[in-house]
Amino acid sequence: MQRPIYLDCHATTPVDPLVMAAMLPYFTEHFGNAASSGHLYGWEADAAVQQARETLACAIGAAPEEIVFTSGATEANNLAIKGVAEAYLNKGRHIITVATEHSAVLDPCRYLQTLGFDVTVLPVQTDGLLALATLERSLRPETILVSVMAANNEIGVLQPLAAIGALCHERQVLFHTDAAQAIGKIPLDVEAMNIDLMSLTAHKVYGPKGVGALYVRRRNPRVQLAPQLHGGGHERGLRSGTLYVPQIVGFAKAVALAIAAMPQETERVAKLRDRLWQPLSQLNGIGLNGHPTKRLAGNLNISVAGVDGQALLLGLQPVVAVSSGSACSSKSIAPSHVLEALGHDNALASASMRFGIGRFNTEQEIDRVAECAIATIQSLRQVARV
Ligand SMILES: *Cc1c(COP(=O)(O)O)cnc(C)c1O
Repeated sequence: MQRPIYLDCHATTPVDPLVMAAMLPYFTEHFGNAASSGHLYGWEADAAVQQARETLACAIGAAPEEIVFTSGATEANNLAIKGVAEAYLNKGRHIITVATEHSAVLDPCRYLQTLGFDVTVLPVQTDGLLALATLERSLRPETILVSVMAANNEIGVLQPLAAIGALCHERQVLFHTDAAQAIGKIPLDVEAMNIDLMSLTAHKVYGPKGVGALYVRRRNPRVQLAPQLHGGGHERGLRSGTLYVPQIVGFAKAVALAIAAMPQETERVAKLRDRLWQPLSQLNGIGLNGHPTKRLAGNLNISVAGVDGQALLLGLQPVVAVSSGSACSSKSIAPSHVLEALGHDNALASASMRFGIGRFNTEQEIDRVAECAIATIQSLRQVARV
């Protein structure tokens, strides 16, 4: 049996063979602990980590000392949000975020609410974008942090980071962005965008799972952060734990490859996305979710009127691996909180599909998926009619 075509690149991506090759020696030959300062094995591991730190810093316009390695974006978000809340307690207890954020941002904020913090969750417009005026109105003297994601994991919408950063900088409020879906796909610059904290992960950009980073600004302003993992004092005391050297090497390699290929790859993937959307958009009752142009090149999120979401997913399953609703709160078939935030009613929100097109997809695959999706939608609508 043929395996289904993988179009779920917002959930995760395969490790690029070039990334795998870069990682392998660090499992076996160069297996040292980067904190072992007394011998060659430690020095080799430490040199590889420093090299990776430089590559990643360079990719976002930061300095190497501003990169803190973590187990992924979930941990980076937790460290940023809880770490700032704890460190700035005396300045204020108000945090602002957005309804369409990933649960790894929303849940730490909800947790802080139980500790007495005041959290404002801003609505988005029907296109998924945060209106700057809405953010401006919600800022208060006691606001310590604004957290707005770079690219949405469901609808691919790109938030106006530079404008948000400029506003936060002017009001002297820290700005955190979850850039898990954005790194390697759109240009990011912490200076130009006035970003104070940025969460990254490797596995959405053809790197390994289980590794990520938090960028923490060291000057103008110097961000204070309370560590959330205590121990050996690794990563300047901000994140204790022996560094996962092969994953860190793979993370940097993945980001370097993605950035080098970004202009051509963005164009190629956008063409595939349009090739899928074009025939689908000819059907009645099909809507595109999220802003039509301010979005990730590989994202296509559609709502299909008059069909059951689970039935649609089931019909597509043998041919294509995609997600319906929110993949990250998976196993629950509750309608996506992101689509709800766009103002969809429950029924329409649940009959939605998220296609995530990536590096290894081909035109032939896209054509096959389009054909299958159209046939499935049409047959489900026929069944609904009789
Ligand atoms: C995948 C994802 C995360 C979680 O990242 P992990 O590295 O899997 O913990 C957080 N935020 C967004 C926007 C994501 O897409």
